[in-house]
Amino acid sequence: MIDFGIEAAKIHQDLIDLRRELHQIPERGNELPKTQARVLQALEGLPLEITTGSAVTSVVAVLRGRGDLPAGSPRPTVLLRGDMDALPVIEETGLDFASTNGFMHACGHDLHTSGLVGAARLLSAHVDELPGDVIFMFQPGEEGPGGAAPMIAEGVLDVTGRRADAAYGIHVFSSEEAGVFSLRPNTLMAGCGDLDVTVRGRGGHGSQPSNSVDPVPVAAEIVLALQTYVTRRVSVFDPVVVTVGVLNAGTALNIIPDTAHLQASVRVLSKASGEQVSKDLPALVETIAAAHGCTVDVSFDMLYPATINDPDETAYVVKELTGLYGADRVVIRPEPLMGSEDFSFVLDEVPGAYMFLGAHPGPVGENPPSNHSARAAFDDAVLADEATALAHLAYAKITTLANQ
Ligand SMILES: [Zn+2]
Repeated sequence: MIDFGIEAAKIHQDLIDLRRELHQIPERGNELPKTQARVLQALEGLPLEITTGSAVTSVVAVLRGRGDLPAGSPRPTVLLRGDMDALPVIEETGLDFASTNGFMHACGHDLHTSGLVGAARLLSAHVDELPGDVIFMFQPGEEGPGGAAPMIAEGVLDVTGRRADAAYGIHVFSSEEAGVFSLRPNTLMAGCGDLDVTVRGRGGHGSQPSNSVDPVPVAAEIVLALQTYVTRRVSVFDPVVVTVGVLNAGTALNIIPDTAHLQASVRVLSKASGEQVSKDLPALVETIAAAHGCTVDVSFDMLYPATINDPDETAYVVKELTGLYGADRVVIRPEPLMGSEDFSFVLDEVPGAYMFLGAHPGPVGENPPSNHSARAAFDDAVLADEATALAHLAYAKITTLANQ
């Protein structure tokens, strides 16, 4: 097996330089023209077939291996993904390469982009031996409105001519020990949905409620009913979180308003509970409103499904990373994270695994700034390991599949 770690050390400084450049040009959402241009430049000269997205500023690069495939063996394909977008956060790290444009790579996606460029360089150097194909998926919009789904719609999973056999991605964490990989089989991260409700009554004088239809107690009843729903109708073994974060109604204490408005964030840990809440929550809201003579405008959007790691692929990743870095640096997380991630759309279609990589600079003290904090700092010393892990996982999987 190729030792990608030795080869990654030789390009490590380039990856750090690229990451720091990207860090100074953070862009948000699905339109990342500067980032996309920089990625295209970084991939120049590599033996890749490159396409850019129509709907979003994605980059898809395909490496077609020229290694020998045993006769009759289907051509293996592995997809590696890195997201590229930043957040509307004003950076307070004080780093000399800190962003000054009002956005910040506060979730470390600059490392994901640079690490994926590194994996493309490492694997490109072995194109003549590689008995299969690799898709490099450079994705915008992970922090919203979502770049993975439009890339899938544009065919990223089938871009080599056949569906990818496996997919891997890495996310860095500013608050966890640098160099430690972690993941878990099955649910790794929650799915998330947005519930938006406008209760419509009929406003009037606060002294004469019987001449009006008051939406305020109805909205209050909905808030409580949502919590009752969670505890009474959702399995305790497949938990759901509903948080009403917005609740607005009225202008003065003696006026019954026409409407009341609430919004809730909903988190689920399985596909089944995602489907259940999508069906139940609008019905619950509508029924409560109807019981009191109100109507509702209700929408529920399941934004990202739960991120579900394939158990076999998880075992494969654990075995390979343990081989590379030792058991001390590969941790099985005891619980899922309640944050969400749109690599989930890829893992819904292709067996694979998503994993985390700690990137805290120096020893982890108490309450280190977490991802999305204005003070989140990421140690780019992990870039060589990030690129190595991605390249190794793709190469070893393709070699195994080719010889099956
Ligand atoms: Zn992120």
